[in-house]
Amino acid sequence: MTDATLFVGGRVFTGRRYAEALLVEEGRVAAVGSETAVRRAAPTGADRRELAGALLLPGLVDAHLHVADLTRMREGLDLGTVGSIEELGAVLTEWSGTHPGESILGRGWDPERTSDHRWPTRDDLDRAVADRPVFVQHVSGHVGVANSAALERAGVSRSTPDPPGGRWGRDAAGEPDGRAFETAVRALAGRADDLHLRSPEALARTGKWALSVGLTTIGAMSVAPEEAAALAELSRAGRFGLRVRAYLHESRWDERRPPPSTERFRVVGVKAFTDGAFGPRTAWLDAPYADDPTNSGMSVASDERLVALVDAAAAAGLGIALHAIGDRAVAQALRVLERGARVEGRRPRIEHAALTPPELHPALARVRPALVVQPGFLWSDRWLGARLGEGRARWAYAFRSLLDQGHLLAGSSDAPYDPADPWRGLAAAMDRQGPDGASANPVPEERLSPEVALGIYTAGAARSLGEPELGALAPGAPADLLVVAAPTLTGAVARGAASVRETWVGGRLASSRADQKNV
Ligand SMILES: [Zn+2]
Repeated sequence: MTDATLFVGGRVFTGRRYAEALLVEEGRVAAVGSETAVRRAAPTGADRRELAGALLLPGLVDAHLHVADLTRMREGLDLGTVGSIEELGAVLTEWSGTHPGESILGRGWDPERTSDHRWPTRDDLDRAVADRPVFVQHVSGHVGVANSAALERAGVSRSTPDPPGGRWGRDAAGEPDGRAFETAVRALAGRADDLHLRSPEALARTGKWALSVGLTTIGAMSVAPEEAAALAELSRAGRFGLRVRAYLHESRWDERRPPPSTERFRVVGVKAFTDGAFGPRTAWLDAPYADDPTNSGMSVASDERLVALVDAAAAAGLGIALHAIGDRAVAQALRVLERGARVEGRRPRIEHAALTPPELHPALARVRPALVVQPGFLWSDRWLGARLGEGRARWAYAFRSLLDQGHLLAGSSDAPYDPADPWRGLAAAMDRQGPDGASANPVPEERLSPEVALGIYTAGAARSLGEPELGALAPGAPADLLVVAAPTLTGAVARGAASVRETWVGGRLASSRADQKNV
């Protein structure tokens, strides 16, 4: 029996060109081209799949998401839809009733979406739940608010110093007011639950969901040693069907030896931070925020500390991914990458690289990191023009300009800090303005064509993860592919994740519409 599959009767987009048919043998693309030529190349007994007018595409790659956090969000308390502080309190009280005894970690509240436009306070949370720790994380993940029980359990009091790279919010009398900024978030969020450790099953469900929307490879970011171990084990047991390339969290990357590399799971680097995010105004800017003239954001690490980390990671054979959102943070990341050691085959990455004004272009051209971008932020950061001023926001998420300068762009979601759906990101890269017309930076010159948008979510993202073979259906490449129920790429993006009929990884059917009832 031959292990061969022949796809015919639709269209194939290889990532570079359109074709009529594709042949997979032994998990790899064996031939792609006209139906006549590909049929001729197929061995007798090849399994024949009729596309019936559907489109075959390279499997999608999300270069930056957080698997355990996404799992917690999917299975935990999602605060992304609460519309007021009052509603937040009611949701917490209700959750405490249905989850007796457990400490509570809620994620995704966004003051931009609440009617009162303010952050919840320690007192708001105490009023909702007082008998156990509660921590609610801002949609960006970079700040959060704790109730009194959570502060007490974490040992945070008046005399607690701010952690390096972070800050405790304090009231006029110097008492902690529940707010945690940047690295201080870890002291509270890390303790509040460990769902993924108690239940690898939940991680496996996240993997199934990812396959169902067409993802075949993910870059798992800020991974804790326990998460790496759980993902490696699931992958080894064949229960996490997509490829995972992991970047370990900077605080614990050298704590233990990473799990052994396989074709499906591999630790490839270390992720570190240089600043925060635009939402809570902690992204580090060259000039103050337009809507907060006393504030230019936060720097969370010195050049020296970051260069030392880059060098230590490189000595261990690991690449580096530096989170940098504000222009001043991107400048720092470039300085650090210019000084730090490099690892063969592990191109350094800047995560987000959100604000890249022309002053940064010479340094970008010298260093040439992979720029791991989130087109979905265009739709989510609808307030960015007010926060930065329109002139500066012009250089946020400037994808076409960066591509024109020859940079490698890698598409990603940053889920759960933005929706995980890769089709939403594709649509945002193409249209920039959301369905309601809102955008962080609507300039039409920065729009991408459907093929180019797909390119950053396939080959671009794969290259940023050190996988030059993935993301394009060239002969010899691993057969990671999708069948979408649409005649054109534009049609598929318009239908979104619902268009995904089948997802194949390494030449095997990993997810199909028929078995999605159980997901
Ligand atoms: Zn992230």
